[in-house]
Amino acid sequence: MMAELHQTPTSLCCCRKSLPASGARCTGDSSRPSAGPGPGSPRCPLVDVASASNFRCFQLRHFHLDLRLNFAVKEMSGWLVLDLVPVQAGIHTLVLDSHPSLLIHSIDCKVPGSGQEEPVSLTYRVDPFTDYGSSLNISLPTTAVKPGRLIQITVRYTTTDGPAIWWLDSELTCGQTRPLVFTQGHSVCNRSFFPCFDTPAVKSTYTATVRVPDGVTVLMSASRSSYSKPDRVFQFSMEFPVPSYLVALVAGELQHVDVGPRSRVWAEPCLLSCAVKKLGGSVERWLGVAEELFGPYLWGRCDIVFLPPSFPIVAMENPCLTFIIASILESSEFLLIDVIHEIAHGWFGNAVTNATWEEMWLSEGLATYAQRRITTEAYGEAFTCLETVVRLDALHRQLRLLGDNNPVSKLQVKFEPGVNPSTLMNLFTYEKGFCFVSYLSQLSGDVHDFDRFLRDYISQFKFKSVVAQDLIDFFLGYFPELQDAAVAQREGEEEGGRGWGVGWVLPSIRCVCVCVCVDSECPPSSWSSGLEFERWLSGCGPPLYEPDLSAGGALIQPVQDLCVLWRRSDTPDLQTLTSFDLSAWSTFQIVLFLDRMLDHSPLPHDVMVSLSGSYSSLFDGLNAEVQIRWLQMVVRNSFYPDLPRVRAFLHKHTSRMYTVPLYEDLVAGVMKCVAVEIFYQTQRRLHPNLRRTLQQILFQTGSTPIQSERPGSVRCPPLPLPLILCAAATARCHGNRLHRDDGRHRSEGRQTCRREVDLRCHLTEAVIGRLVMW
Ligand SMILES: [Zn+2]
Repeated sequence: MMAELHQTPTSLCCCRKSLPASGARCTGDSSRPSAGPGPGSPRCPLVDVASASNFRCFQLRHFHLDLRLNFAVKEMSGWLVLDLVPVQAGIHTLVLDSHPSLLIHSIDCKVPGSGQEEPVSLTYRVDPFTDYGSSLNISLPTTAVKPGRLIQITVRYTTTDGPAIWWLDSELTCGQTRPLVFTQGHSVCNRSFFPCFDTPAVKSTYTATVRVPDGVTVLMSASRSSYSKPDRVFQFSMEFPVPSYLVALVAGELQHVDVGPRSRVWAEPCLLSCAVKKLGGSVERWLGVAEELFGPYLWGRCDIVFLPPSFPIVAMENPCLTFIIASILESSEFLLIDVIHEIAHGWFGNAVTNATWEEMWLSEGLATYAQRRITTEAYGEAFTCLETVVRLDALHRQLRLLGDNNPVSKLQVKFEPGVNPSTLMNLFTYEKGFCFVSYLSQLSGDVHDFDRFLRDYISQFKFKSVVAQDLIDFFLGYFPELQDAAVAQREGEEEGGRGWGVGWVLPSIRCVCVCVCVDSECPPSSWSSGLEFERWLSGCGPPLYEPDLSAGGALIQPVQDLCVLWRRSDTPDLQTLTSFDLSAWSTFQIVLFLDRMLDHSPLPHDVMVSLSGSYSSLFDGLNAEVQIRWLQMVVRNSFYPDLPRVRAFLHKHTSRMYTVPLYEDLVAGVMKCVAVEIFYQTQRRLHPNLRRTLQQILFQTGSTPIQSERPGSVRCPPLPLPLILCAAATARCHGNRLHRDDGRHRSEGRQTCRREVDLRCHLTEAVIGRLVMW
């Protein structure tokens, strides 16, 4: 149940108690992992409902993985060593996050320096926790466990095909010569990779030893690596503390080319030259711009590995080694944005991390803001504004469908136990978060002052995990005049029950909400009170402020004009159309045009005939981001003349982001039989997880859990992205109830919730969902 999502939006405290009007903190345990604002500011114990572990009882100093990869049986087996220091007396149990796909063989304990060199075997028990994991309860030797004394716990285990681990047969790789395996930890999947404190609140260094067959290259999100060819052993060391979800591994036939002094591109041999050509020296350039803005890059290496189309998302900000899907290579502008976004995570998300999944916006909103600061410096304000308009369009599209009061539109959400955090990651996490950070920048009065603030924020909290209160405290401490205004306003509210209202003004691009003083005696300059923070974080609905994007007018206006032209007339005259040379437009301009035309589908048949005649051939030669949007228009308008193009596209593309949206549209319309036919023709080239997703779409067979090969282990494929959005819609339609069973939810929603159908029609991965995780 998600009833508490409707709680009164008054809390900023990490424990969700209402803050006293004075702004004082609630009291409690100050031993939480977050750095907090400094000594003397006690906090409530941090609660992460997505973790079964008792992470607050220990300090995790380091861990080591020793794994052997067996591609033939798709297994990783070996051991994990945790260096733990109990932080309080009376701890008898260590509870780790685990998963049914992990087979635990044995667990033992050593106490270095205690005189007892032989490890002691420990008893343990695995309990159910949620659909996405289990809890591993380990009984500790009470005589040896003392606060402050290091203990080493060794867990021997085998893991097969849990949600974090994606084994690809060679046919699913680009080269189709060798199998490949990669892991994807975000957000709560890595508990199926190794037992851990699977919470972003806990960070530690790690090392790893990985043994593989000859000819296989292993990469990890680590700052150092080495390879012993005779032993076929790779060694890794991550010298900077990271949360469990950022531990990542890929192994396959991978080669590299250096593209800068601290960056190299990795890919299968058949992809490498294209990848290098696309990125060239850009990575170092983007790193340089980011360092100018936000301070030194902290991770040493900034490598990028391109993964086959089976990679379930667009990109993942694994530190030192960004994972990115090869399918994006042909769409240069999207590749640029995606890589810059991952680079921005080097500061926001990886160096400073949200302490719970309920505040993912702290990573994604700040990273999106940082990404746009980088693109503004590197490519100009107009380009950045255009890209932002495309995303904010998508945000408002999502809002129109979900309604302003949908709880998933909050920046700070509260999970009920059992809800998979990934299901609540949505555009609000990114774009409403971006708008809030832009609002803070606006409050600061100067974008460059705000850059300096962000640089010092990173310096203050690097390698730690924070909650929103940390950011806001630091912000108000950095700009004390705003704090003064906030206190004055709060006092005014207490005394008179009046204060600030919200007014809407219409700038050149979009409605922007600013705070205006209801009381006419208030000076106009004091609108920037900062007291909107609580509404920003806890309130539903659209962003209270959006940045001025008029600098993108020269790029955006032609798109708007062309949309008006097509909407006004069934067949615009050729003379007028020729003044719009789409072949000279950027990808984002065409994407904006098609997104807005998609918003107006279905279109009259004559319009589709004219659109096809004008652009279809042009789009054939453009990238997949353009093509999928046009083909969605074809499908949603049942425009049969261009159906062969849909077939060709689905025969070529085997990634989730380019298949699921089209299949969803095909099934929603009158072309389901075409979808089934294409599916049968192409299914062998699809990853089993994607195949299952498409089967659910085509045959609505998602109501039963999918058993993996090993008895007792349950595979939980990541939630298909449109289903995430459906979950969001259903949260409202079913009285805030978020279903835990993805498949069951889907089938129930289809029968009972009209909104879900709307979402399938309008919110697709290509338009929105593909932005969900990167
Ligand atoms: Zn991101």
